[in-house]
Amino acid sequence: MEILVTGAAGFVGSHLSSLLVSQGHKVCGIDNLSHYYSPELKKLRVTHLLEPLNVPLTHLDLVNQVELKKYFSDHAFDVVIHLAAQPGVRTPLHRSESYIANNIQAFSNLLQEVVETEIPYFLYASSSSVYGNSKLIPYSESSADINPVSIYGATKRSNELLAPTFVRNSKTRARGLRFFTVYGPWGRPDMAYLRLINSGINGQQFARFGDGNVKRDFTFISDITTQMSSLLTELSDRDQGFADIVNIGGGNPHSLNDLINEINLQLGSEIDISSSGMNPNDTLFTCADVSLQRSLTGFVPQVTLSEGIAQTIAWAKSNDFATRLTSWVSSTN
Ligand code: NAD
Repeated sequence: MEILVTGAAGFVGSHLSSLLVSQGHKVCGIDNLSHYYSPELKKLRVTHLLEPLNVPLTHLDLVNQVELKKYFSDHAFDVVIHLAAQPGVRTPLHRSESYIANNIQAFSNLLQEVVETEIPYFLYASSSSVYGNSKLIPYSESSADINPVSIYGATKRSNELLAPTFVRNSKTRARGLRFFTVYGPWGRPDMAYLRLINSGINGQQFARFGDGNVKRDFTFISDITTQMSSLLTELSDRDQGFADIVNIGGGNPHSLNDLINEINLQLGSEIDISSSGMNPNDTLFTCADVSLQRSLTGFVPQVTLSEGIAQTIAWAKSNDFATRLTSWVSSTN
């Protein structure tokens, strides 16, 4: 199939593009190499993961509907997988316009093109952030308690509300994927695990929000991309106009302190931790109900935190990345 991946220079997008090419698909990427974190890291993903597989990357901002329309008039895709977004829950309120533009306007521009050009399949990234601090654990797709606590989570929830409305009465099937804390090699330097690995390798202090007891359902990148591919296959059995939402997480949360201990153990060192108050945009706990993904694909994420962190540390120590990590981590401050 011919597949467009938006956000292809991003963490999930670059890994997913590699997997799809290895499965025999033809993949094209779009990315605007946003400056939310180091564009150098994004360009390295392009060099290491996309270019060797001949995945062409078009530098395009999805907010620009004129350019997007032109791009679609030159291409014919069977599938669009939308991963481009302004991520991160901690960005302050006064920078909310970046979330509205990149997560709502861009989403709406893209989905309009998808529907108008009658592309059969549309997968898009949502997030466990839509669940906010729900007390109904594990977090189920059918939960009525969906109250995001961050602007980011609210924009992802709005995507979930827009998608069925757009695809109703169209030739497109849409599936939203609620990712739970994705981690792994080539990951995002705004996320705790990569900041901790940098602190451990380069001997720098790690600023921890709260007491470290917040728990996350850490999901390794290869589990995410494998599950995405299977959920795409399953979507082909659905009728035109279909829309749903599926969690991708392992249902096995670990605390931030567990993560710190695991990284300390594997690096054989003790990270210097400084503590500050909880960030109000952080949720306390995430844990996926895995039953829907299991029933749809027969698979649930299975890479353990220990295995996943080992692979991530091996990547961070490869090439000259250890010397670049600090600047990547600082690029998000
Ligand atoms: P990422 O920031 O590494 O990748 C997103 C890419 O989108 C970036 O390369 C960025 O340059 C690009 N982009 C942003 N705005 C754009 C625009 N207007 N036009 C074109 N490109 C644009 O993030 P990621 O971790 O790979 O996340 C992928 C998706 O998964 C995002 O939608 C994110 O919100 C979602 N998600 C990620 C996680 C996680 O833990 N990584 C968890 C939940 C949801």
